[in-house]
Parts: sequence; structure tokens; C-alpha cells
Amino acid sequence: MINEKEIYRGLTSEEAEERIKKYGANILEKKKTISAAAIFLSQFNDFIIWVLIGATIISGLMGEKADAATIIIIIIMNAILGFVQEFRTEKSLEALKEMASPTAKVIRDGNIQVISAEDLVPGDLILIESGDKIPADAIVVQASNIKVDESLLTGESVGVEKTNNAENSSIYMGSIVLTGKGEARIVETGMNTEMGKIANLLQGIDEEKTPLKEKLASLGRILVILCIIICVIVTALGIVRGQDKYEMFLLGVSLAVAAIPEGLPAIVTVALALGVSRMLKRNALIRKLPAVETLGCTSIICSDKTGTLTQNVMTVKSIYYDGKMYSENSFKENKLLQLKKVFTYCNDSDLNYNEKNFNKALMGDPTETALIKAFFGSIDELKRFLNKAKRISEIPFDSNRKMMSVILSEQGNKISYVKGAPERIIERCKYIFVNGEKKLFTSDYKNRVQSAVDSMANKALRCIGAAYRDGGILTQNNQEKELVFLGLAGMIDPPREEVKPAVLKCKEAGIKPIMITGDHKNTAFAIGRELDICSDISEVITGEELDRLDDEKLSKVIDKAKIFARVSPEHKLRIVRAFKRKNKIVAMTGDGVNDAPAVKEADIGISMGISGTDVTKEASSMILLDDNFTTIVSAVEEGRVIYNNIRKFIRYLLSCNLGEVLTMFLASLLYLDTPLLPIQILLVNLATDGLPAIALGVDPADKDVMYEKPRAKDESIFARGLKEKIIIRGCLIGVCTVLSFLVGKYFHFSLETSRTIALGTLIMSQLIHVFECRSEKHSIFEIKLFTNLYLVGAVSLSIALLMAVIYVPFLSTVFHTSALNIGQWLIIIFFSGFISMINSLYLLFNKK
Ligand code: ATP
Repeated sequence: MINEKEIYRGLTSEEAEERIKKYGANILEKKKTISAAAIFLSQFNDFIIWVLIGATIISGLMGEKADAATIIIIIIMNAILGFVQEFRTEKSLEALKEMASPTAKVIRDGNIQVISAEDLVPGDLILIESGDKIPADAIVVQASNIKVDESLLTGESVGVEKTNNAENSSIYMGSIVLTGKGEARIVETGMNTEMGKIANLLQGIDEEKTPLKEKLASLGRILVILCIIICVIVTALGIVRGQDKYEMFLLGVSLAVAAIPEGLPAIVTVALALGVSRMLKRNALIRKLPAVETLGCTSIICSDKTGTLTQNVMTVKSIYYDGKMYSENSFKENKLLQLKKVFTYCNDSDLNYNEKNFNKALMGDPTETALIKAFFGSIDELKRFLNKAKRISEIPFDSNRKMMSVILSEQGNKISYVKGAPERIIERCKYIFVNGEKKLFTSDYKNRVQSAVDSMANKALRCIGAAYRDGGILTQNNQEKELVFLGLAGMIDPPREEVKPAVLKCKEAGIKPIMITGDHKNTAFAIGRELDICSDISEVITGEELDRLDDEKLSKVIDKAKIFARVSPEHKLRIVRAFKRKNKIVAMTGDGVNDAPAVKEADIGISMGISGTDVTKEASSMILLDDNFTTIVSAVEEGRVIYNNIRKFIRYLLSCNLGEVLTMFLASLLYLDTPLLPIQILLVNLATDGLPAIALGVDPADKDVMYEKPRAKDESIFARGLKEKIIIRGCLIGVCTVLSFLVGKYFHFSLETSRTIALGTLIMSQLIHVFECRSEKHSIFEIKLFTNLYLVGAVSLSIALLMAVIYVPFLSTVFHTSALNIGQWLIIIFFSGFISMINSLYLLFNKK
């Protein structure tokens, strides 16, 4: 721990405020965002739309002025709908970028504060440690073992050592701290940094192409060609039959505009982006859009233990010293002084000297603060103790070595204090402290210590060993060798309450939760069993066992594994790869800098919002804002919901579009009058394609999403019968619309009335279908209609539009409709309802 006198207090907040006015924010100039106007104009940037506008103008010039004007209005309304969708997406992606912006630990007014890296100014004193991305150009003023990766600037990825000597004390924005920790004073910020000079480093999230979007884009191309062929046939047949050429041309183009699912990839983005904001509400910050899609396929969740499955609230429960166990009320006994020294001096907690409340004043890793709290009750007492020694150097804790040590000067003597995982300490000890004497650490003593470790671990306690070395000349090379063993501290870190139900949810959803921890095998097992992650000790694999298994053997045992204990971050990469070889979709959490490769390799890399390092955050596709396992499960659930919603509107849009094309195609094959006019086709498109489809994208979760097995990653979006559903429904819509038109003719209604009936049937059958699309398993009678109010609203609006077009005299002239009577409405209701009846009966029959 650092002594009060040794602290440099950095800037005051007033100074910082002045400087930010003078030097500006610490940001690199951002890429310009697309303006609203540009998004709006891009809606017209489509070849077919231009052809339609051209055709409309021509027909307008030839006399059909009202038609032409209406078509243009419809095109603009469609563009507005498209704009609203896209603008919303753009905004939520931008908000995401802001959320993911980095923070820095700075000393202001003598206090350690975490602030947004943007607010740093020259002169600020920052704390850096392994895993941090350096937020601005700075000079190191205090360093222990700092190595940084400057490859972003120099291209060389070897770690460069940094000290407070003038020749190698400069560190640069964007470099990564690989090891060690220290303090640095900022010299340049924002565009004045080296990074600012050479490049506009893009921060945050790119709008990446998601696999689904790409697949849909290529499907879209095929559909466009098919649509155009059919439109050409419809147009050609009409002309052959002697109908008006311009009229037929306009019809063909209108049909193309209405039926081509050009908006499909865009709607996928909208659904994913909406999903991102829903996940954010549940504390999962998505950094890469494709992750939303992949989340739904997750079959393995590998989670860190400390802080994610457990509360990361540590309390020392027992201490082992000189052959005896001590419980909480006897920690302050004088006998334990030697142990108290190791745990206090070899400790990286920070003390906020301005804070009066002891618990608040103590900051840092919970393992470290717990050790201090075990021995001290007040700040003064701690300060007095700290003032008795001066730290000379430190080898910081790292999760590979699982230990740390310091060299101190205590009353003129140099002494090395070491603490760490018991077996790491034991293997470095030559002596043991017994009855105030240093004795040889014989195997008998070792066995006694080992059984103390086991008994603590079996009680789910996290064990830390303590040792020291004095006498002789102490250097970095020998400060952790030939030590004297002192004792153990066992601390409890209770599981988070909400995790057990989340583990159960995973299992029901066919997802295997796996615990990965640096902790002792028995500690890990005890906690794993409490959380229902595992039931037998044979399901625990240790890091040592992993080292002995080659990839082939690992593949054989990995299916049984539920816990990996005493592993190093390097092992995580092997674990991810082993699961991936088994075609599992792996989500993996990580916090430290060494976790980054595994996080990157995983299908879903997850980093910790609170305890995570910048490097891991950057490697991850999702950040847990609350470091909580439950959040991963919620995100997987949302991922599944979003994927289902995408399936819903693909089903809806494609079957409707197919219905529209088939209506026109069948009619022309049968040499009928065209059942719909161009302007009516565009109206169908406006009423059914826009709002109802978007509303499907926000459909709430089906109650059984988390009772199904995860889908395969390469599963086609049309799998599990979706393709058949689309084709059958599309055909039914087409046939029934033509039939309704024929019934009109049969009753000798006017052509206008028959067309109005066809228009009504086409729109109504789509608006009924949109509700059916909400579930693939349940019929329309089993779905609760009012659980998606957006959809109810969108459908009501579309029905109102249809009514207006039929009954408002001015509109009915423009749209060439005629007011229908009840009998005519019955025809519409019969045909549009008939299709749903068949569907519901089929589902009912299927279930039985
Ligand atoms: P995870 O976070 O992966 O679930 P973990 O936090 O238990 O696991 P580490 O932090 O790597 O994993 O700790 C591994 C072991 O190292 C602990 O069991 C403990 O014995 C020891 N250890 C942990 N923190 C410290 C520390 N600050 N100083 C010394 N030893 C420590």
C-alpha cells in the first residue's frame, strides 16, 4: 500500500476545468455522421423507384394527372417510412458508440476518480495498469514493471519497457499496458497527441455487415430478378391482349416496386438495432451488431467465477497460522502480527486520504481490501501501521503467477513480503515459522498446511498464502525464493443470488454453463455445486490437468467438464478452441489483459463493464455493464427473440409479396382484366409492408424461447418449415384474391367494385396474416392479440387507410374504388378469413 506522504495529488478540479477550456476535449476528430437529409434522399436512390417516377410523369403528361400525383405522394410516404426506420437505426448505433467510449483513472483533488477519457487534460495524473489503453500522451512518473505495446504507432508488437527515467518514460495514446502498473502525467491530449497527428483512429463500432444481412441481400438479388421477370410477363401479356401500353408499363413497374423486398436487409438492421437497445436495458452493451444474431445460437457459456457468478464481496472468514485456525473475532490477536504485516504491506489497496469512512476510504481489488479489513477497524490505525514501513519495489499480482511480492524497508531492514495462491507460495518456501522460530519446511509441515488449505477450500473459501524473506541482499531475482511460510487467509465470496435461477434457465434452454476460475479446485467445486453448475468433483478439470492433455484427449473429456479450476488466462484460449472444434457456439467472459485472445476467439466475446480492462473490452463483442452472469443469459434470450422476430417479418413480407405478384400473374395468365390498378398496388404496399412489418420487429418474447435448444449457427433463416409456410401462404393469398375478383365478376358487379373487393381481400388477408406470423406454433386463436400494441396500432391504421380509400369520395375517385355494401364485404371477409382458417386447422391437426 502506498503511504500518504508518497502521493502526488495531481490537478485540482478547478485547474482541470480551466485546462479543458484551453486545450479542448481529449478526442480524436470523429468521422462525420450521416445527416438526416442524406438519409431521406437515399430513400429515392433506387433504380426501380426512378423508373416508376419516370413512368408516372409520362402517364401524368398523357392525362392521368390525379393518378400521377397520387403515385408520387405514395412514393414519398414510403420514403418517409423508410427514413424513419433508417434514422432510428443510425441514431441507436451512434448512441452505442458513445456508450462504449473509454474511461481513465485520474487523481484529481488528491482523490482517485474514474472519468471519461475525453475529459483528461495536460497535467492530469493518471493511474495505469496492465490491460489499460493509454488515453493520451504522457510521461511515466512512477512505474513498477511497466511494459507497453506500441504496435499501433510503431508496428512492432514487442513489449517496450517504461520507467520514470527520462529516456524511456514517454507513453502514447492508444498503446496498451501489457504488464505492471504506475502513474503518468499527461502532456498532450486529443489531436495534439502522436496518434492525433498520424491517424484518425476510428473508435467504437463499425456498422458491420451481419451474416444474416448478407445472406438476405443475396436472396434479395435473386428475388429482384424473379420479380422483374414476372412483371415483364404480366406487362407483355397485357399488351398482347391489346391493353393500353403505358397503363401496362406503369402496372409492371408498380408491381415491381410493391413486390421487390428491397427493404429486407434494412429491416434486419432495424431489428438488430432495436435488439441492441433492448439488451442495453438489461445491462448488456453490444459492441458488434453481428453478435446479436450469434447470441441466439450460444450453446456454451464460459463464465469467470469471481464477480460474475459470485458477488466479489470478499470477507476473510478464517486464518491459519502456526498450526491453528483462527476465526473472525480473533484476527486482531498479537500473535498474528507477522501475518498482518504481509497482508497489509504486500497489498495494493488504495486509501482515499480525504474520506473519513473507513470502508469507503479503502479502494481496490476486493481480495486486497478484505485482507486489510480483517486486521484494521479505522483509518488512523491503518495509517499508523503503514507509516512504520516504506515500500521500495513491487512485483504486481498477475493471474498467471497467481502471486505478488514487495520489498520494504522496515526500521532500516529490507524485507520481502509475498502473498499468493497457497501452492505457489508453498513451492517457494524453504522454511516455516513455528512458535516464533524459523524451521525447515519439512514434508510433515507441508502436509499440515495442505490439509488446512483443503479444509478452507471445501468450505468454498478462497485461499491466500503468506510468506516472507529477510536477511542478505534482496533483489527482484530472489525476493520470491527460499521463503519462510507464515500462514493462510480464507475468504468467502458468496454466489450472486440471481445466478442459480439463471443457471437453471440455461439448462432448460439447452445451454451449458461453465465456470472458469483461477481459484482452487475444491473452492470452485463447492461454489459450482451451490449454483447447480456441477454435481460431481469429476466434472472439474484443473489447469494442470489441461496442460497434460493434448488436443485430442481434451476433446474426449471436454463434454463432461463443467468447471475449469486453477487455470491461467492462457488456458481459456484452449478451452474455447476445444469447444469450437465440437461445433459449439461459445460465449466466453474475460476481464484481464491476458483474457483478450480467448475473448476474441470466442463466438461471443464478453468483457466486464466494471472490472474489465480496455483491451478486453475492445476485443469483446459484448460488455456486461454489471459484470453479472445473469445478464449473459438475458442477452442470449434477447438474441433468440430478435432472431425469431426477424423470421417473423421475413415470413410476413415474403408471403405477402408473393401473394401480390401471384395475384397479378394468375390474372394475366387467365386473361382476366387486371384485378388491381397500379395505384392500388402501391397502396397495398404502403398499407401492409411498412408499419405492420416494423411492428413485428418489436414483438415481445414468445413464452417458449428459453425452452428450445439453441439453433445451429449455419441454420438457414428459412429452416424449420419457414420456406414452405411462405410459399403456401403466398399462393393462398394470390389465389383467394383472384377468386374474390372473379366472384365480383360472377355477380356482375362493376369492374371498379370487383377491383375494390380484390383490393380489400388482398389487404385484409395480409393484415390477418401479420398476427399469425407472431407465432410459428400457435394459431391466431391462441395468440394474445394485445401483447404487441404497436402491431394493433399499425394494423388499425392500415385498416383506416383502406376504409378511407373506399369511402371518402375524393379518395375513392383518386384510387378508382367504389363504396362496398355488406354483402360485398362478406366476400372479402370470407376469402381473407378462409386462408387463416385453413392455417389454424392445420396447426391444430399438427399438434394433435
Ligand atoms: P476468476 O476471476 O477467473 O473467476 P479468480 O479471480 O479466483 O478467478 P485469480 O484472480 O487469478 O482468479 O486468482 C487466482 C488465485 O490467486 C486465487 O485463488 C488466490 O489464491 C490468488 N490471488 C488472487 N488475488 C490475489 C492477490 N491480490 N494477491 C495474491 N494472491 C491472489
